[in-house]
Parts: sequence; structure tokens; C-alpha cells
Amino acid sequence: MRAYDVIVIGGGPSGLSASWSAASRGVKVAVLEEHEEIGRPRHCAGLVSGEGLRLIGMPCKNEYVENKIRKALIVADGFYVELKKLGEPVYVLDREAFDKAMADRAASHGAEILLGKRAKRVDKIGDGYVVETSDGSYACKAVIDGEGATSRLAKDMGLEGPKLKLPALQVEVKGFADLDGILVILDNRWAPGFFSWVIPLGDGKLRVGLASAIGHCDSLLKRLMRRHPIVSKLLERVEAGNRYGGTIVIGPSKKTYEGNFMVVGDAAGQTKPLTGGGVVYGALCGSLAGVVASNIVGGEVDASLYERLWRRLLGLEEGLGWLMRRVFVFNGMRELLNLASRSGLLSLMEESINYEYHVTSMLRKPYLPLLGSLLLAFLMPVKAFKYLLQAPLPTQRRSKFV
Ligand SMILES: Cc1cc2nc3c(=O)[nH]c(=O)nc-3n(C[C@H](O)[C@H](O)[C@H](O)COP(=O)(O)OP(=O)(O)OC[C@H]3O[C@@H](n4cnc5c(N)ncnc54)[C@H](O)[C@@H]3O)c2cc1C
Repeated sequence: MRAYDVIVIGGGPSGLSASWSAASRGVKVAVLEEHEEIGRPRHCAGLVSGEGLRLIGMPCKNEYVENKIRKALIVADGFYVELKKLGEPVYVLDREAFDKAMADRAASHGAEILLGKRAKRVDKIGDGYVVETSDGSYACKAVIDGEGATSRLAKDMGLEGPKLKLPALQVEVKGFADLDGILVILDNRWAPGFFSWVIPLGDGKLRVGLASAIGHCDSLLKRLMRRHPIVSKLLERVEAGNRYGGTIVIGPSKKTYEGNFMVVGDAAGQTKPLTGGGVVYGALCGSLAGVVASNIVGGEVDASLYERLWRRLLGLEEGLGWLMRRVFVFNGMRELLNLASRSGLLSLMEESINYEYHVTSMLRKPYLPLLGSLLLAFLMPVKAFKYLLQAPLPTQRRSKFV
């Protein structure tokens, strides 16, 4: 049996970030990845902000950035809002190249990346753990579980998984599609309980996808591509290419560690609650778990520190976002967007909303009324929203935008 200080299960952004941060603190780390290649199979739309990339120490590089986008069009039940100048561009990652770059970074700091090794069970033996794989067993002092959305081992350790799991499907199309911003369709009729998206990849290529709370992603995606008034027009002269499915998770688990076994990324539900985006949150939490694991090896701390640290960083965003998501899903998006647009709040948000912290960036004035009203809308749906939008905005800004 081979022995390491820390075993990381899963070679996605969360596990690779964990292994990088633990290895750079001098402990002996191995990453077990079930596939023979990092980054495959694909499952992600790849949208992240420049700030997010900086936060996880992976600055924007052509090697893994497919496109840079400055506009978004949000469509909800016939109503649409164009956000023309997002405060900072949003990047479209080539996830395969990105994950490989993360693996190189971890390996260059001493982590061993072991491919074709599926972790099948984890047993606590004495003060440490034994991880049994399809190809041998590994002893260690701490385990970091980054298995992703389909995680199983955390459940075996008695931990609950993410609150919500939604099947998703994407297809890449090639041709002469003319779109220079992200198209987001917030409409339960096209993607029940979630939303649909079209992302320009450059050179007439687009990534079209959706997730759905009721499944049937295949037929819903076909319907969106053939019948949605905007999407069908965009796709008139394109050829369908690669299709790939996946699972979007939302809502963190109640507890993300047991003994010195820590769960990171999608396996722990650490994603943005409004979009399910988890590359940045997963990698951030992964690097915190790596730091804690390296201290566990030195006998200085236990894994409860990991839970405290990541909740301090993302707990408010996760909690408020979960509530806000429910408002979006259960109330009429059209009416909410319409009101936000007419009041001028959407214009105000356009330039300064933070792509990584959607919800807490709204806590800053003058978004507070919008956030408060969205949350209150639970109790008194659109009425509360209308009422709170009348709260005075700073006069200078109001005259500029309204
Ligand atoms: C359709 C779709 C679109 C998305 N779009 C975006 C987006 O635009 N922006 C964004 O930020 N996020 C997006 N996400 C979410 C994002 O893909 C995830 O949040 C992110 O990949 C999480 O990283 P992770 O490392 O936790 O898990 P993963 O990336 O899933 O990596 C887990 C790894 O663990 C391996 N593994 C699993 N079990 C075992 C085992 N037992 N033993 C060994 N290896 C194992 C898997 O093979 C995999 O390589 C999207 C997701 C989907 C499904």
C-alpha cells in the first residue's frame, strides 16, 4: 500500500486546486482521477469572470480562454433586457485545457496526479484513512473529496449531498451564427426550474444549453433550438457538433467534513446559487481544504476549520442566493425584470454587478431595495417588489438613468 499525507479524490478544478494548495505547503499529496485524461469528458459551459480567475490563481491565458464577452441579453417570457457593458468581461473557458493547466500547476508543486484510478471506498483506520481504488489502496492522514456532481463517497461517510441536482445538456454548433453576447433565457416554459443559454465561442461557433428540474433535457433542447423565436433564428445556418450532458448542483451540504475527510466543489454543492457555476467557488473551497489538510498533517488543526473558513467566505452569498433563486423560479420573471428595468435598477447594476458574488454585490446601495423586495416577495409576491422599488435612490444616479 502506498502512503501519502493527503489523498485528493477527483481531478476537476476543486480537487486540483486542493492538491496544489496542499502540495505547495510541502505535504505529500496524490490526486486520484478515474479517467485516463484530465478534463475529459466535458460537461461545462465554461463561463467565469477575470476576477474569479485571479481569485483562484489562474490568470486569464489564451491557452484556455476560448472567448471574451462584454454583453448579455436576458430574455424572460417575451420581455428582454440588454446589458451592454458588463463591468468586466466574462471569459469562456475551454474546460479541458483549463483543467489540464490546473493539473500542471499542481504537479509543478509536487502533487502526483494518478490517472485511471477510481476511488471505490474510504475507511477510517486509526488516526488516518485508507482509500481503496480500482487499482490498489492508498493510506493517508486526510482525504479531500472532489468527486463532482455525481459524488458517492461523501454519502458513504454519512454526509448529505447538495440540496438540488439538475440534469443539463449542451450542444456546440458551427456555422455563421451572429451573436456577440451571452443570451440567457429565463423562462420555465423552455427550461423548467432553471434557464437556457447560448454562448458565442467566436468564429460563428455557439454553445447552446439548458438545465431542467423535470429532466427531458434532450427534447427540451431540441424544442429550444427549433422553436424559440430568437434561438431558432440564430441557428438557421449552423451545423450541430458535439453534445455533452452533466449535472448542475445548487445549495451546499449541511456539513462538509467528517473526521479529517473534507468534501469540496460540486460534491459539496459549492456553486453560485443563481447559476450553478462552480469552477471558481469549487477551486476557492478546494484551496482552503488544501491549506487545512496540510495543517492536519502537522497535527495543528482538525477539518472543522475548513467548514468555518469556507462558510465565512461564501456562506452569505449561498444563503441569500438560495432564497433569491426560489423567488426567481416561483414568481413571474417577466414582471420582476420589467419592474427592475423601469425603475432604472437594472442599468445601475449593469456596470457594477459582481459576476462572482451576484447576491452580496446587491447588498451595496442602491441595490438593497431590490434585494430586500425580492426576498420579501416570498410573502407578498409582486406587490412587495413594487412597493420597495419606490424606495428613494440616490438623486444623482436616479436622474442619470431614469
Ligand atoms: C451543463 C453545465 C454547464 C456549466 N456551466 C458552468 C459555467 O459556465 N461556469 C461555471 O463556473 N460552472 C459551470 N458548471 C459547473 C462546473 O462544471 C462545476 O461546478 C465544476 O466542474 C466543479 O468542479 P469539481 O472539481 O467540483 O467537479 P468536476 O469538474 O466534476 O470534477 C470531478 C472529477 O472527479 C472525478 N471523479 C469522480 N468520482 C471519482 C472517483 N470516485 N474516483 C476518482 N475520480 C473521480 C471525475 O472524473 C472528474 O474528473 C456547469 C455545469 C454543467 C453540468
